[in-house]
Amino acid sequence: MQGETYYSTRFERGDKTMRIKLGSVASPGSRLAYEYDIGSTTPLTIHVAGLRGPTPDGGVQLLARNDDPEILCAACRKNKASTICLECENGDYHGWLCEACAEEHECDDDMRLPVVNSPRAGVCGYTGTPFD
Ligand SMILES: [Zn+2]
Ligand SMILES: [Zn+2]
Repeated sequence: MQGETYYSTRFERGDKTMRIKLGSVASPGSRLAYEYDIGSTTPLTIHVAGLRGPTPDGGVQLLARNDDPEILCAACRKNKASTICLECENGDYHGWLCEACAEEHECDDDMRLPVVNSPRAGVCGYTGTPFD
């Protein structure tokens, strides 16, 4: 329903749970605001493009994926960034480095994350693969 907020965890009495069918609150053309994680929150906007029937196993089927955004190295401004230095990064892409610049970069190697095709790139230890 429009203007309603649903929570993965009930923080206060009356909070609505996310344990509902998406089809009961969204329809083609709907826009949903989604906040992933608390503390290092990643805000996302979901546009419902259409509805499909259920998958044979009742799970989620990936239908499309965005093109990998090309973010240039903050040091040379020429090559595509492949590594994020967390010591230099503060949400403005200053820590995003290409392979060559990352090798010469002076900050600690332990404070780096790979550039991955996700809004969580560079956030909270995210490497793009689960449980690594
Ligand atoms: Zn570079
Ligand atoms: Zn750095």
